[in-house]
Amino acid sequence: MEMEKARKSEEGEKICRRCKQSYSPSSNTTSSCRFHPSFFVCRRHDDQKRYYELGPEDPPYAAKFYDCCGAEDPEASGCTTSFHVSYDDD
Ligand SMILES: [Zn+2]
Ligand SMILES: [Zn+2]
Repeated sequence: MEMEKARKSEEGEKICRRCKQSYSPSSNTTSSCRFHPSFFVCRRHDDQKRYYELGPEDPPYAAKFYDCCGAEDPEASGCTTSFHVSYDDD
């Protein structure tokens, strides 16, 4: 079977489908992959959680944050660690 062999950069290297980083399965540990289990959302914090400290100048809808941990930076490193998950895994 000659399926397309994309995503095979180097020998043994895989791409994590969660964090999009390449890794070698041999060094894949429970702390290899940092990610946010929930989505980056934009809504009023009032809905349920109150992580975001609104300043006096901020409109009440200014809150954008990760639903899991409340991190307000979309580039914030993940709040959870686990194994990388390759595209081969299911
Ligand atoms: Zn998070
Ligand atoms: Zn990963």
